[in-house]
Amino acid sequence: MASEQCEHGDVELLGTEKGERGVNKYFRCRKCGAVLVLSEEGVLYEVPAAREQLGSR
Ligand SMILES: [Zn+2]
Repeated sequence: MASEQCEHGDVELLGTEKGERGVNKYFRCRKCGAVLVLSEEGVLYEVPAAREQLGSR
């Protein structure tokens, strides 16, 4: 089964960005390539990898 959910256990910090409500931290999962956004309020957003094709291996 290839559709197993990734737990994003191995992420790298891409950088931070100041928003109106605080600082957002951007991470990328090394396993599946999904981008994770952690807001200052502690809310985690996930951006699916399929949408963000960087073309780098
Ligand atoms: Zn992942």
